[in-house]
Amino acid sequence: MEKIEKPISTKVPTQYGELWFYAFKIDDQEIVAIINKKNIKKTANVRLHSCCFTSEIFGSLKCDCALQLEYFMSLMSKNRDQNYLLIYFLNHEGRGIGLFNKLKAYEVQRKLGLDTYQANEYLGFPHDVRDYSPSVKILRYFGIEEIILHSNNPDKANFLIKNGFVVRIKKIFIKPHSKHALNYLIAKVEKGNHLIKSEIDALTNNKNNESGKKILI
Ligand SMILES: [Zn+2]
Repeated sequence: MEKIEKPISTKVPTQYGELWFYAFKIDDQEIVAIINKKNIKKTANVRLHSCCFTSEIFGSLKCDCALQLEYFMSLMSKNRDQNYLLIYFLNHEGRGIGLFNKLKAYEVQRKLGLDTYQANEYLGFPHDVRDYSPSVKILRYFGIEEIILHSNNPDKANFLIKNGFVVRIKKIFIKPHSKHALNYLIAKVEKGNHLIKSEIDALTNNKNNESGKKILI
């Protein structure tokens, strides 16, 4: 196994119960891992979560990141008999373009009515520059071989499969709380191939029938 710097760990009382927090330093990046049970088995429920300052700290309604995180943490708290691991990437803001550029892209979205992918293109940023490779080292550190991946993003699953893990996807779908977040999910389905097309179709068709307008919550 490839060596990594020993992480720091401590147990923290949280609203989700007592959780073990680990801080890893890998390739000059600080990455947090949170587990609900100290003795992890080789099969675990896993989420690779990219930090989203705007929704998770300040309640922005433009995306569903905070909802997904909250949902996964509540599962972690409820299912104490199972192993859960959250890998939280502090440097993944704005799908890796950073907070400064993310806010720039938000302003372009707001002014020109572009979606998240179009705004990145407009500004010359790639759609997604997130690097998931530290997660391989973290998963191996915990001895995980089989992953129940809580995600709608096929890129994450493919990445883990390529790195030798057995992966089963568990989709997360939480009805978005705003039209902004719904538009974000639609863009993720259409341009990021996210696996919630049927859920989004059902939602937009219902809204279509109810109001005669698409994308209205
Ligand atoms: Zn977000």
